[in-house]
Amino acid sequence: MTMPRRNPRPDPGRRGRRAPTWGPDPVRAAERERRRREVCAGKARYATEAEARAHALMHQPGPGPRPNAYRCDVCDGWHFTSRR
Ligand SMILES: [Zn+2]
Repeated sequence: MTMPRRNPRPDPGRRGRRAPTWGPDPVRAAERERRRREVCAGKARYATEAEARAHALMHQPGPGPRPNAYRCDVCDGWHFTSRR
């Protein structure tokens, strides 16, 4: 299983003071997992990235902000981020 890479730059040597995305706190981890499942359930799912992109093109053929496809660990499919 491949992990989605959100940060293309590893930036070694300089570690910020921001909390880790996936911290050791089990409560936060559980909350995050719950939210992920909620998001997953509320989104359209695509079997492959290619399929997701094809749908994106159908819905938004012109220039403009494109939704970002990402692989979902919950359902093993692909969703789009909902940012505009
Ligand atoms: Zn999903």
